Amino acid sequence: MKTLEQFRLEGKVALVTGAGRGIGAKCAEVLAEAGAKVMVSDILEKEGNAIVEAICAAGGEAVFQRLDVSNEEEWISTVDTLVKTFGGFDVLVSNAGIEGINLVEDIPVEQWRQVMSVNADGVFLGMKHAIRAMKPGGIAGKGGSIINMASVTANVAFYSAGAYSSAKGAVRMMTKVAAVECGNHKYGIRVNSVHPGVIRTELLEASFVNFAKKGLYPTPEDAEAEYVGMHPIGKLGTTLDVAQTVLYLASDASDFVTGAELIVDGGYIAH
Ligand code: NAD
Repeated sequence: MKTLEQFRLEGKVALVTGAGRGIGAKCAEVLAEAGAKVMVSDILEKEGNAIVEAICAAGGEAVFQRLDVSNEEEWISTVDTLVKTFGGFDVLVSNAGIEGINLVEDIPVEQWRQVMSVNADGVFLGMKHAIRAMKPGGIAGKGGSIINMASVTANVAFYSAGAYSSAKGAVRMMTKVAAVECGNHKYGIRVNSVHPGVIRTELLEASFVNFAKKGLYPTPEDAEAEYVGMHPIGKLGTTLDVAQTVLYLASDASDFVTGAELIVDGGYIAH
């Protein structure tokens, strides 16, 4: 019983980015269910507010804050509002991310910069301002856990995902550097990355339909079968699979885990 209590988040305050839908929304719901007070942030205000309503209806505590993760001023005011609203800052889940599909030889420089600005700059800015707030003497000042959403594409090449994979590779390494720095300075802050394989979301289902419309696969079912086939476990991941990993890293159960990359991919990169 005592061991399981380590996975609970009562008394902790969490900020989740890109939490209006998909993996981020599920992370916010699971952290709230485990007892954390959660700030749901996104550029999608309607969707973010709906997630807050769902969390509160289930008995949790949450508020919505608009945050474009590529904007440093918005990070500064969001962290300030978080600490004023909930009286602390213990967990950051930097989940917001965008795709960009193109062969390296075809990536428009604008697309490269946009993917980098959300997926890499956004995670860097989150760590910068979370560390400043969480470290001893910061406005929250009690240490904490920072969880950065990477991807298996940070570990292995994924066809036509040059900008996306490069940004996720940057997330993987900046996580480790920050973990070492926070450890050396005895900040009490752990920093880890989570690397999902292909996760079943509404957008993914829509992609299967689009692939078929574009003639890349005869039917959406054929597209799905190929994606499933990439995962030795024989199925795609769920948002809950990722959120439960995030819960572990957010909780005191992972007290000795920092600078790690948790692969949640049904064996995708194991073969
Ligand atoms: P999604 O598109 O459903 O959700 C991403 C969220 O980020 C959206 O709500 C979007 O509005 C938000 N967002 C986009 N740009 C933003 C910005 N500038 N500022 C703040 N929020 C912004 O995607 P998802 O599948 O839930 O992916 C979530 C994270 O998981 C991403 O970082 C993604 O790269 C990563 N990931 C997803 C998969 C997968 O198969 N779905 C696999 C590996 C990694």
